[in-house]
Amino acid sequence: MTPEGQALLRQGATELGLDVEDQLPQFEQLLDLLVEANSRVNLTALKTESDIVLKHFVDSLSCLRGGHLDGAGLRVLDIGTGAGFPTLPLAIVRPEVAFTPLDSIRKKIDFVRTAAEALNLTGVTPLVGRAETLGRDPEHRDTYDRVVCRAVAALPILAELGLPLLKPGGLLVAQKGPISEEELHAGRRAAGEVGGRVTEVDAFTLPVLGDARTLVVIEKVGPTPKKYPRREGVPNQQPLF
Ligand code: SAM
Repeated sequence: MTPEGQALLRQGATELGLDVEDQLPQFEQLLDLLVEANSRVNLTALKTESDIVLKHFVDSLSCLRGGHLDGAGLRVLDIGTGAGFPTLPLAIVRPEVAFTPLDSIRKKIDFVRTAAEALNLTGVTPLVGRAETLGRDPEHRDTYDRVVCRAVAALPILAELGLPLLKPGGLLVAQKGPISEEELHAGRRAAGEVGGRVTEVDAFTLPVLGDARTLVVIEKVGPTPKKYPRREGVPNQQPLF
């Protein structure tokens, strides 16, 4: 990483209230691995150092706002992790948390596994699969303390995919761009349908770039009816609201 890239990472992290000085070598290694892998397989559209540092690393770290992912031993599922975001940056700064990054695309999870091993992130257990399938699997349903997702789907879809996987009292933390009143309204209704309640809508701007982001938190306040999640693809094709 160039000194400019390091400075951006430091500045972004500092604005989020984080000190990443000790973890800089891991972020540098992750950048190198991502750039190298991306030259062979298409993992992410972001290619420049500053884009990766700000739009992947710092953006992922912004999921820590509100402190919902703080706590040793927390079990966190990352739905649609892609090339490992937000999981990998989060696991670098929160090694005491157990992350399960999930994606339906094997080549992406192969990269996440390689990167987690190279960075010695022992709390990361990557998984290939679909959230709809996991949500009906007794080994996973009702078992996670937190579900995170970044840039995956509209809020009603995320509620249907995420809530079945949470323990009672667990939280879905969805990181999104600016969110419309319509999406939020539909998300609140969908959350209610699957046993959840929107408890927080945190609108903020990304450090350095100033892009609008929203963290929406949905708490699991009751059981999710057995009919959810519906079969693969249906939550996307026919969102609840
Ligand atoms: N979260 C990553 C990020 O912020 O860079 C990737 C975002 S990418 C736009 C969405 C990812 O979600 C894709 O890799 C896709 O394969 C995955 N995905 C979408 N729906 C999914 C589902 N139902 N189960 C598992 N993965 C899913």
